[in-house]
Amino acid sequence: MELHDHTLIQLRDAIARREVSSEEAIRASLARIDSLDTGENGLNAFLEVFHDRALDDARAIDRRIAAEGAEAVGPLAGVPVAIKDNMCLDHGRTTCASRILENYESPYTATAVQRLIDAGAVIVGKTNLDEFAMGSSTEHSAFGPTLNPWDRARAPGGSSGGSAAAVAARMVPGALGSDTGGSIRQPAGLCGVVGVKPTYGRVSRYGLVAFASSLDQIGPFARNCADAALLMNVITGHDPLDSTSVDFEAPDHLTELERPLEGLRLGVPRLARSDQNHPEVARIFESAIEAYSGLGAEIVDIELPLMKSGVAAYYIVAPAEASSNLARYDGVRYGRRAEIGPNDDLVALYARSRAEGFGSEVQRRIMLGTFALSSGYYEAYYNTALKTRRLIKNEFDAVFADASGPRVHAVLTPSSPEPAFKLGAKLDDPLAMYLEDIYTVTANLAGVAGVSIPGGFVDLPGAPKGLPVGLQLLCPTFAEASMLRIARMFEKTGDWNSRAPEL
Ligand code: GLN
Repeated sequence: MELHDHTLIQLRDAIARREVSSEEAIRASLARIDSLDTGENGLNAFLEVFHDRALDDARAIDRRIAAEGAEAVGPLAGVPVAIKDNMCLDHGRTTCASRILENYESPYTATAVQRLIDAGAVIVGKTNLDEFAMGSSTEHSAFGPTLNPWDRARAPGGSSGGSAAAVAARMVPGALGSDTGGSIRQPAGLCGVVGVKPTYGRVSRYGLVAFASSLDQIGPFARNCADAALLMNVITGHDPLDSTSVDFEAPDHLTELERPLEGLRLGVPRLARSDQNHPEVARIFESAIEAYSGLGAEIVDIELPLMKSGVAAYYIVAPAEASSNLARYDGVRYGRRAEIGPNDDLVALYARSRAEGFGSEVQRRIMLGTFALSSGYYEAYYNTALKTRRLIKNEFDAVFADASGPRVHAVLTPSSPEPAFKLGAKLDDPLAMYLEDIYTVTANLAGVAGVSIPGGFVDLPGAPKGLPVGLQLLCPTFAEASMLRIARMFEKTGDWNSRAPEL
């Protein structure tokens, strides 16, 4: 097995046993990135790669492992990881894949990223995304799309498409993304990797460039549930720098992972079986349901009637918050400043800087959000969306708990209604792009936890090894550990994790 084929835990253990040095592991990751990511057919998963710095960091970790032992260094001692480029890091640039932040250098590091570093991980680079995490394909990056490693003619999903593709292509064994309405789970599904959207408040958002603050969460990508559980252990926890981060102990996500959940009840919402699914997605979904029943799970048909309104509510709430959050990019304080003439005033500076700096999707979101919040429309749009959001949360509360205990432990859906779509297929049709998020947005609106795991592969023309299809589990708030146990039960029934794209 080559070094880049190691999963995160395999690599970590090999480094701890000193069979491999961190420097060798980082060299292997950098070599893989160099050979696959750039040039004409390059996947473009990375916006910045820290060649020298990562090797320096690795050598420092190797010295510490030699002196103190790997355990003392931390649970990720020496392994390469990547982070989405909307997370601040005190070196390199933090661009959010936007022209407006093209040369922005953050003076500080996001808490979740710092936790990786403190656990001994080496950050090899920053990954591509839809500009400001707005999108479902990574095509809205100002620096070109990321290609799907399973078929370069297709999108990897988004907005964390760079992180998903980097893990799928085995450039890194783990990465961080952010999920506001599905941006971890949908690309994880389309790239055949595991992606976790933690409960709102579980992981600090400090240093995550805000898109929609009441929905945003950072979470891990990995090749399997165990690696994702380890990354969850590292990034989870209270942070006094984020007032929305919760102050209660997280369990060890790894210890019980292999123990199947007894008496598992899985809810399947009616919408998840609707005919809007691609027939191959529907087929994989039904076989996953069968696999779970074969494992002894009770499958419960549930309604979640407002799931279908999630996209409508989300695309009011998220743009509304975005329009406010993005007001700070005024050409004065951060990033790009437009040239103005001697007779232009401050308003012209703002307008030109923003017109030049923001791409079309971001401008669309700002307009949608500003409209939804403006007087006369606030009641009709924003307030209605907030009420819908609350009712969606109530629906989840009702399926997760009744007087006699949980009705279901998890809700099962496809991660998205179709396998990876062709680049460009939805670019001129924003509504079609938004409908990619039909299964994912409700988790963010309700604040619950979610995960996407590989559900199987389908054969479509042009993809030599098939295309992955993601399976989503949604669980009650703070139930990430049991969610990963349930995910692991299914993972053990197939070998999807060991498949690699032909690159
Ligand atoms: N696709 C959704 C959007 O465009 C979700 C993005 C995200 O989760 N960051 O808003």
